[in-house]
Amino acid sequence: MSRALLIVDVQNDFTEGGALAVAGGDAVAEGITRHLAEHAGEYAAIIASRDWHDADGDNGGHFAVGADPDFVDTWPVHCVAGTPGADYDPGLDTASVTHHVKKGQGRPAYSMFEGQTDDGETVGRILDARGIEAVDVVGIATDHCVRASALDAIAHGQHVRILTGLIAGVGAESSEAALAELEHAGAEIV
Ligand SMILES: [Zn+2]
Repeated sequence: MSRALLIVDVQNDFTEGGALAVAGGDAVAEGITRHLAEHAGEYAAIIASRDWHDADGDNGGHFAVGADPDFVDTWPVHCVAGTPGADYDPGLDTASVTHHVKKGQGRPAYSMFEGQTDDGETVGRILDARGIEAVDVVGIATDHCVRASALDAIAHGQHVRILTGLIAGVGAESSEAALAELEHAGAEIV
């Protein structure tokens, strides 16, 4: 079975020191780099996403403007296109990444399936074109963009594994709930 690796939003703003830092983010970046060193050759595609918001406006209500963020639907300003916060965390070695997907331009986009490459390819099309039937999902954050990307992968007919050693979440309870939801939806929690 042809398998892809989906690396969700391992960006400076989501790791230690970032605008919306998730505890354990740096360790996830380094862990994925080690995983790639051993296993990159086993994947038919390695797709990495970046949250890539507009500098102007609130990106469809995604940025909290004039109010405190609720950390559910509204967030501190993060991952503005072209800024250091939107770059991949330096602990992530992207040399073996085959496709770079950007999402969230002017609107909230939690799932990497909502994004596209600079050539206009979507994750769904990349998987279909290569006959890929299974994906491993890693990255940040378990309870938001990892969750949404994995649910979309299942909806796209993929056999989904969540590599729990290579994810980090915003909240402990919400991350546990997300994993339970994903397992119920058919994902394998590894
Ligand atoms: Zn965002």
